[in-house]
Amino acid sequence: MNRVRLIIFNAALGPLDYRVPDGMTVEPGSVVVAPLGPRQIVGIVWEEDRLPAQSVPDAKLRPLLGVLPVPPLRPQLRRLIEWTAEYYCAPMAAVARMVLSSGGALKGPSTVTEYRLSGGMPERMTPRREQAIAALEGEQATMRELAGMADVSEAVLRGLLQQGVLEPVQVDCDRPYPRASASFAPPDLSADQQGVADRFIAAMEEDRFAPFLLDGVTGSGKTETYFEAVAHALDHGRQVLVLLPEIALTEAFLRRFEERFGVAPIVWHSAQKSTERRRAWRAIAAGDAQVVVGARSALFLPYARLGLIVVDEAHEISFKQDDGVRYNARDVAVMRARFEKIVVVLASATPALESLQMAESGIYTRLVLPGRYGGATLPSIATVNLTEEKPERGRWLAPTLVKALFARMERGEQSLLFLNRRGYAPLTLCRHCGYRFKCPNCSAWLVEHRLSQRLACHHCGHETKPPPACPDCGEGDCMVACGPGVERIADEVAEILPDARVVVATSDTLNTPEKAAEFVAQAEAGEIDVIVGTQLVTKGFHFPELTLVGVVDADLSLEGGDLRAAERTYQQVAQVAGRAGRGAKPGEVLIQTRHPDAPVIAALAAGDRDAFYSAETEARRHAGAPPFGRWAAIIISSEDENEAREAANRIGATRPSLPDVAILGPAPAPLSLLRGRYRYRLLMNARRSAEVQQVIRDWLGALNFPQGVRVSVDIDPYSF
Ligand code: ADP
Ligand code: ZN
Repeated sequence: MNRVRLIIFNAALGPLDYRVPDGMTVEPGSVVVAPLGPRQIVGIVWEEDRLPAQSVPDAKLRPLLGVLPVPPLRPQLRRLIEWTAEYYCAPMAAVARMVLSSGGALKGPSTVTEYRLSGGMPERMTPRREQAIAALEGEQATMRELAGMADVSEAVLRGLLQQGVLEPVQVDCDRPYPRASASFAPPDLSADQQGVADRFIAAMEEDRFAPFLLDGVTGSGKTETYFEAVAHALDHGRQVLVLLPEIALTEAFLRRFEERFGVAPIVWHSAQKSTERRRAWRAIAAGDAQVVVGARSALFLPYARLGLIVVDEAHEISFKQDDGVRYNARDVAVMRARFEKIVVVLASATPALESLQMAESGIYTRLVLPGRYGGATLPSIATVNLTEEKPERGRWLAPTLVKALFARMERGEQSLLFLNRRGYAPLTLCRHCGYRFKCPNCSAWLVEHRLSQRLACHHCGHETKPPPACPDCGEGDCMVACGPGVERIADEVAEILPDARVVVATSDTLNTPEKAAEFVAQAEAGEIDVIVGTQLVTKGFHFPELTLVGVVDADLSLEGGDLRAAERTYQQVAQVAGRAGRGAKPGEVLIQTRHPDAPVIAALAAGDRDAFYSAETEARRHAGAPPFGRWAAIIISSEDENEAREAANRIGATRPSLPDVAILGPAPAPLSLLRGRYRYRLLMNARRSAEVQQVIRDWLGALNFPQGVRVSVDIDPYSF
């Protein structure tokens, strides 16, 4: 009797046992198709003794239906799946799914049919056909993706195919990628850089788990040093994963990689076409993909011979996934390296306190690049006290900052104004009745975007045209903007400096790789005088003419009331400040604030990073916050408010009483309505030693909830 235990891709069900029919061979890690009721489902064969036993007798087992033609998942990856599920209190199935995230792609053949416009015209034009033809210019993708891009049904496209307006193209997903070469254009490293690179390489040669914290100010040459480790991996036929935040802005990075290694790396992110993902997935699993640069989900891909992981800008909060499996890619990257017995590099100019603490306690090796590469100086930083020096009414830039902008214009240098608020204004009112434009699906205001003439919710993506009249009192021409967004600051700059070429740089305006690349090219060529941007522009750029950075409102991120607010403010301001003076000319940074004496602002102005970190360390220690204590959140949501509240209360009423764990709530979550779901939350604060996950599993495992209620656990949460 050949019995196997599977993780099946249904998060509601645990492992299930099946029979291996005669003539079929499977091993742990094999990806198989199995019957589930009347349906077929994908599963992964697992070591039987690592999963709970099943009581179904041999005679009742159903046979597996088939084995998918992909390499079995390696034990290192299976251990990572187990660890991630355990640590983040997530179903194994949900984690395993991320590994096979190209889902259907796996089942398909290596050749895929895509479609593109042939240049012909249909016999009969309809509005939808016209819309499709206009939208699909230059595109090539599957029917389904084209339908999404053109916002028409697939039936419309099939009509166009029949008429020869669309033509099929066969794409081979197994065609090889061009090869990167370690020796294409090696740099001359400085002595400091060489010292760091040597440490990486020595650890790689020992084939052991070695976590490094690469700590160096912006522009210190961190990228060049870990590129040496990449080169070493290439020379030894090992694969490399580089995790980056904000995938939209990797354009500059890709170019730099290509200059060093001769070809662009393989890119992995969720917005890619399914065909590209399939091709990448197959090459990664086969061991043919050399270097993958990706967003956090690239961490769970089935690399055949991973030899190095780099997490660049490792402090970035976008490494934390905030729905589904709520994992932190920075931490999972370290675990993956541990299971693979390889080197992992966390690179940052402003490391998270948690990472510094890991170095302090000897778990990570901290390597420091002390100054900017080539002797470029760090910018001078000063605060502008907004309580003393007020901008004019209805304006947001104080005289000192305005003067500095003028000076840059006169000298033909560039300025960057940073404000982490997309759109024109964060809140819009009716001038007659005071009605606030609010998202119907979320407890959040709609944000006016003048460039695209939309009111948008930044949480669920809901968008409407600005209405001609107030929905409440019916008066026309009613909207007034409250507070500043980047678009409004750009307007203000245009008024102050009518000749300036001003560009708004946000995820709205740079929403494709092409637009991002165009922006970078313009900025580098000095064709932009003032950039007004969100945190999208705080990293990765190197604009030699940029000599002034103005932080429009440093208090914004401080006022969130969350326990990481100070750290986040420090990181954001330090990162954006790092954009100034990267060329030959020195940079200046002006921080507008109403709290120049707040410890984080004072530390920024004094350029005293240690002062900030030691104050923050003390505050965290005092609060029992990470890294000294642990936090976890339990979030309960339902489309029915009463149902959500009752479920939250029931969880609250059955809370365990433990000496080393404090449990707060339930209370409405900060976004108490999100995408149409009402949300409540309990917060746990525990000693480091507490078995938080076990406590949560025992507690929640004993409860049952109505169908519509979702209970999710957030270990080490970021947003409070
Ligand atoms: P970081 O990643 O620490 O912000 P970078 O690696 O981007 O720093 O380096 C900053 C700048 O210095 C970049 O323009 C980079 O090309 C340049 N640079 C760094 N190291 C070298 C080197 N060894 N030789 C030539 N240029 C270098
Ligand atoms: Zn919304």
